[in-house]
Amino acid sequence: MRIILMGPPGSGKGTQASRVEERYGFPVISTGNLIRREVQEGSELGKKARNSMNAGRLVNDQVVLEILKKRIFSTDCKKGYVLDGFPRNMNQAKKLEEIHPGHKEVVLGLHVSDETVVQLLGARRICPKDGSVYNLYTSSPLKDRKCDICGEELVQRKDDKPQVVRERLKVYHEKIETLINYYKNKGIYYKINGEKDIKDVSKDIFSVLDKELSKIKKFEMTS
Ligand code: AMP
Repeated sequence: MRIILMGPPGSGKGTQASRVEERYGFPVISTGNLIRREVQEGSELGKKARNSMNAGRLVNDQVVLEILKKRIFSTDCKKGYVLDGFPRNMNQAKKLEEIHPGHKEVVLGLHVSDETVVQLLGARRICPKDGSVYNLYTSSPLKDRKCDICGEELVQRKDDKPQVVRERLKVYHEKIETLINYYKNKGIYYKINGEKDIKDVSKDIFSVLDKELSKIKKFEMTS
């Protein structure tokens, strides 16, 4: 099963993706994280992605697809995986079906207002050493602005600065309606209220996924 988690930046896709992985064992593939790693390593693909990423714009489709292809064909993705941050436009959605066909798809759309996004991203901090993510409002570190795991000073992502967040939201809204309608027409889109507590959002997500997985099991038993 391919689970696609959609939602504006900062809507909690990463958190919910990890909770889905924990419960069902499907690995999370976050294109944002994969791209950030390529940028940090200074690879050829990373060099092509860096400027767009830092400005809050979408990275070129071809570059993202190359990065995604390196991950998606791993053996741990055979039974399924959770996509966080991909696809972001129609071209990516179609290309995904081409390069990795034959997966039942479920699309979960986290709905969160722009106001909440600006507030949450402004308070997001990451550990530059181990990548842990914190939020000064909702999941603050135990010790003042230091990573709970390794003690490193937390930092704000370059693209979480207010003016870049506004650009990211603009880019998100430009492309997302068409994508949502595409998945709605396929009958695989589920709207999730992302403004609830983290646990309640997970509950709603699990209830959709439990139903979809039991349909697959029934189909496998009867065929
Ligand atoms: P995220 O961590 O998902 O918020 O992504 C951070 C940044 O990575 C985005 O603002 C884009 O610059 C880039 N990015 C992540 N996923 C994609 C994608 N599917 N297509 C294009 N750019 C992406």
